[in-house]
Amino acid sequence: MSRFYLNIAVDTPLHIVFDYLPLAQSEPSDYAPGQRVIVPFGRQQKTGVILGLSSETSLSKKQLKPIAQHLDKDPLLCEQDITLYKWASDYYHHPIGEVFSQVLPKQVRAGKPLCIEMQKLYAVSAVGHEVEESSLKRSPRQLALLQLIKSADKPTDKSLFDHLEWDWRGPLKKLTEKAWVTVSQEQALPCHKASAPNFQPNPEQQAAIDAIIQSQGSFQTFLLDGITGSGKTEVYLQLIQRLIAEGKQVLILLPEITLTPQLANRFKQRLAAQMVISHSKLNDSRRAQAWLRLKEGFANILLGTRSAVFTPMKNPGMIILDEEHDTSFKQQQGFRYSARDVAIMRARNYKIPIVLGTATPSLESLHNVQQGRFTHLVLPKRTAGAVQPSIKLIDCKNQRLDNHLSDNLIKAITKTLGRGEQVILFVNRRGFAPVLMCHSCGWVCQCLRCDSRMVIHKNTYLHSPSTSLTRGHYGSKQKASTSVASGLLRCHHCGAERRVPANCPDCQQAELFPLGIGTERIEETLSAHFPNIPITRIDRDSTQRKDAMQAVIDKVHEGGAQILVGTQMLAKGHHFPNVTLVGMVDIDAGLFSCDFRASERTSQLITQVAGRAGREKKKGLVLIQTHHPQHPLLTTLISHGYESFAKDALKEREQAQLPPYHYHALLRVNAMDEQAVLSFLNKVKQLISTIDTRQVNILGPVPAPMLKRAGRFRYQLLIEASQRKTRHHFLKTLLPAVEKLKLARKTRWSIDIDPVDLY
Ligand code: ADP
Ligand code: ZN
Ligand code: ZN
Repeated sequence: MSRFYLNIAVDTPLHIVFDYLPLAQSEPSDYAPGQRVIVPFGRQQKTGVILGLSSETSLSKKQLKPIAQHLDKDPLLCEQDITLYKWASDYYHHPIGEVFSQVLPKQVRAGKPLCIEMQKLYAVSAVGHEVEESSLKRSPRQLALLQLIKSADKPTDKSLFDHLEWDWRGPLKKLTEKAWVTVSQEQALPCHKASAPNFQPNPEQQAAIDAIIQSQGSFQTFLLDGITGSGKTEVYLQLIQRLIAEGKQVLILLPEITLTPQLANRFKQRLAAQMVISHSKLNDSRRAQAWLRLKEGFANILLGTRSAVFTPMKNPGMIILDEEHDTSFKQQQGFRYSARDVAIMRARNYKIPIVLGTATPSLESLHNVQQGRFTHLVLPKRTAGAVQPSIKLIDCKNQRLDNHLSDNLIKAITKTLGRGEQVILFVNRRGFAPVLMCHSCGWVCQCLRCDSRMVIHKNTYLHSPSTSLTRGHYGSKQKASTSVASGLLRCHHCGAERRVPANCPDCQQAELFPLGIGTERIEETLSAHFPNIPITRIDRDSTQRKDAMQAVIDKVHEGGAQILVGTQMLAKGHHFPNVTLVGMVDIDAGLFSCDFRASERTSQLITQVAGRAGREKKKGLVLIQTHHPQHPLLTTLISHGYESFAKDALKEREQAQLPPYHYHALLRVNAMDEQAVLSFLNKVKQLISTIDTRQVNILGPVPAPMLKRAGRFRYQLLIEASQRKTRHHFLKTLLPAVEKLKLARKTRWSIDIDPVDLY
């Protein structure tokens, strides 16, 4: 190749691979796919990744420019990773440069030189072991550190001090100066010891482990379908132990990590491994380090959320994706990928097994089981003698309700607390109440920027997260007040905030009252009923502070009668052994939604929340308040379980030609100017009329279910096809033409492949 060009993915919203000239006097052999470069781009400089070399280009001499810098000698990414990112760009119709910039940690993307930062390891020296406690009487911090390091049993890194609320650096330095504590450099893969033993797997767990181990070295997707508490996590742990003993790596994807610190701790205690964690709350440097450690084989386990699915692996052994039904695996903005689907593709490229675990499989996955694409492994029983909770409905029709709580529910709570056990109350919405209404004219407080009402918050202040997590209510029985005058109104869609007005803006009367319920209101009502019982609220407002969730969990584990009030955060994988009653206060809205996926979500939610009850020896009870006790979703779910619901729902989806039987893509368009959106969509429709549409259905344009949001008007066009392939070809023709439309610049538009909701 005498003259050659570099084909480069540059971070821009254009669907193009850019050609550049190599540096002067360089050879083709100096370059390889997966190396990072810096290129001139307009007046800027951008980082890019080489995808390939070519001997031809469609650019003219004048257009061609040489790259500015060649950053990597060795490719940063291997061929399999590049193939995966290219596939994702193609499948999701997302610009290749943006895909690369999304999948690489910020520091990597910025073109920084990369190296693994070795940790310092601390251990107590022989002299340090001899030190008498009394000699450190006047240095309590040194003493605390010395004891902490002693308790670790082996050299440990500074994460041991993470929980300390004082600056440990000074005291630690003193200890090392006195040679009571020694410092050494971390070696590759320093494994910490597992401190907890394995369980003897029950026959179903054993069958699952065997089937998955047998598939090693080849691609296979397993749906590990086990009710909550059936021992799925135990199966993961034993599989991981086997794989890491063989020097393989395991990638574990979870919906949330900060909300389920228990799970991460359980992994730490059980696995003799070098484990790294990656999620969006970590700073850039820690994320880049986790990425690098897995890529270089310095870690054998990565526990991460959605975006970790793209992390390169040196010795891939297996991928585990827990709670596969959870919609947080779908990115809802920008590059709208499904981490579940990408993970499956990744396992296929790497030729390794992937395990999708859940108690409530998505209809997509069950369909794949029916089609023979996934292997179904079922764990039908709770382990260790725990039995499934019984689920009962409370018919609320014509019942006296105290702030939405029925007498029956209150009685059940009283009984449970009387036995010294704990209660979870599930409420669908955070805040105090979803509507502020005027008693004399019916005015309701709307958000000015959204087609939505503002939610009343009582226990939060302008721009400050609530500070008190747990409030024990001692003293005389208080009456729950409905006064919200000191409260705050907040839009849950755009974040707008204002104070509760003293008078109605329409009629000037002062009688404004809250309508409906939220977690804060239920918390308040309960504290009036149970003045001596500690009540903890768990929702996005109360868990904003770092480690807030851990504090709640510790509190619950301390035991004693108490009540937890919370949103769906409570449904996610927590294990509270002393919770025996779960009450669901307001699930009716989920029974009557216009989204065809609502029934699936509601069933999953009920099943998951119910799964929090009676996870150990004591039997659990679940009480669901409803005005529709005859609703088929509820009756099926209660008498026959989630599996039976799912079977029926799949049949309905097939008859209605909905996913997973048909394939959707959603073109979303929004702008401040409603007319701009409509004109743009008209042009798109005109374009479509020039394309062969025999294989696809076009529905719309229609307004989004919430037309106005944050001041922007939103419309959408649904594209539907009976085959992925035809949808793909149609979009491949349509989208480049849409991109060229002049009107496209006056709007924001995006394409969502396999959308999980239509909002
Ligand atoms: P899941 O992940 O399906 O909710 P877990 O793996 O958390 O279930 O198991 C539920 C409980 O049962 C945990 O406390 C776990 O330690 C315990 N457990 C799991 N497998 C066994 C087993 N084979 N024998 C005894 N106890 C088990
Ligand atoms: Zn009024
Ligand atoms: Zn708003």
